[in-house]
Amino acid sequence: MTSSPDPGLLTFASNLMESHGALLEQEDKRILSLLPPELARFLNAPEEILLGGENYPLLYGSPFLDSLIRLATHDVPVLYARLNIPYLKKDGFDRLVSEDVQLFGARIKSVAQAEANACYMVVICHYRALSDERKEGLVQVPVSESTGSVIEGLEELWKEFPFEAFPDSRVPPQFDLMPEQALTRAIDQARGVTQEELSTFFSGMRRRLYRDVRNTREYYQALAVEMEQSLSHHNLTEAQREDRRAKIAELPKEMNAKIGDLERKYSLKVTITGRAALRLLVPVVRLMVQINCRKISTTVSLTWNPVTRRLDPIRCDRCGGGSLRIYADGRDTTVRLLCPMCNGSN
Ligand SMILES: [Zn+2]
Repeated sequence: MTSSPDPGLLTFASNLMESHGALLEQEDKRILSLLPPELARFLNAPEEILLGGENYPLLYGSPFLDSLIRLATHDVPVLYARLNIPYLKKDGFDRLVSEDVQLFGARIKSVAQAEANACYMVVICHYRALSDERKEGLVQVPVSESTGSVIEGLEELWKEFPFEAFPDSRVPPQFDLMPEQALTRAIDQARGVTQEELSTFFSGMRRRLYRDVRNTREYYQALAVEMEQSLSHHNLTEAQREDRRAKIAELPKEMNAKIGDLERKYSLKVTITGRAALRLLVPVVRLMVQINCRKISTTVSLTWNPVTRRLDPIRCDRCGGGSLRIYADGRDTTVRLLCPMCNGSN
C-alpha cells in the first residue's frame, strides 16, 4: 500500500496528461490513465498506468514526476532576469510585521534581518474551455519559487523596475534547476484563476443547459398527456392500445436519455498549458521572526518583497498554500502555522 498522493500534485499531473491527450478515470484516490503512444514514450511508461499508485508515485524528486515536469516545461520558453531595486527597506520591520501579518493564537516578533536574493516566477498559461462552444485565453500566475505561494500583483508590478535579462548561458546559480514545487503550484493556481475568468462562460452554459432540460421535460410531459388522451379513441384496437401504453411507459426512460445527452453536450472540458515563464531574481529583505505559542517558540523566515512593498505570504504547514492570516497551533514541542482554510478544517 502506498499513501494517498498529494492532491495538488495529482491535479497537476492529471491536467498535464489530459492536455497531452491522456484519458483519465478516477479510481479511489488514484487515477487510471490511458496514454497515447507518444506520451507513453516521452514518460517512459506503458500505455496504461495508475497515477499516484505504487509504480507511478507522485513524489517530489521521483523520476516519474521529473519526467512530468520536463513534459510541462520542455516547450515553455523561459526568460531569466534580475530586477534592479533602487531602495531596500532598512528599518521599521516590527511595525511592518504587526501590520501585514494577522497571527492568531501566538505572538510574533522580529529578531533579525538581512538583505538577500529571492526567486519569483511568473507563469503564463493558456486555457481552452470546450463545450458546445469554445473559449480560450491567457492567465498569468506569479509565485515565490521558495515557498510556492502566489504573490498577488507581482505579475504587473515588476514592470515598474528596470531589469537585466540573462542569456541562457549566463543564468545565475541562485535559480533552482528544477523549481517543481513553484511550477506545480502555479499551474494549479492557474486553474483557479481560469475558473474566475470563465465564470460568465460557465453560468451562460448552465443557463442554456437548464433551459434545454426544462424544454425537454415540458415536451415529454405534453407528449405523455397527448398519448394518454389518444387511448380513449374508439377506433383503436386493443393491440394498438397496448402498444401505445407500452410507449407511454417508455417515455420517462427516453426523456432521461435525452437529458443525459444534453448534459454531455454541455459538459465542460478545460485544459491548461504552461506557455511561457519569467523567472526573476529580486533583492529582498529576509526577516527572522520568533513566534511564541503557549510555551513553545519557533523561528520562521519571512520575506519583505520590495516589488509588492509588503511581506510575502507565510507557507501553511498543512496544505503548502500561502497566507498572511495565520493560525498558530502549538502542540507537544512544535508550532504549526495554518492558513484559514486548514485551520477551519481542523
Ligand atoms: Zn493550509
